[in-house]
Amino acid sequence: MFEVLSFLGFMVLILVSGVFATNIYCRMAYNWCSECGAMNAKRRDQCRKCSALMTPPAGKG
Ligand SMILES: [Zn+2]
Repeated sequence: MFEVLSFLGFMVLILVSGVFATNIYCRMAYNWCSECGAMNAKRRDQCRKCSALMTPPAGKG
């Protein structure tokens, strides 16, 4: 029984760390449009969905 529980705990740990890694990667590589909330690559100047100007974060370049 303990083996099953530890295995499940291990799986949950992997899933959670995967979610965290994806989350951190998305924050690093993407911006979210303040107008429509669409995900845009950081190098874009305009939203690909609504063409709103993306405001680059301070310290870019
Ligand atoms: Zn947009």
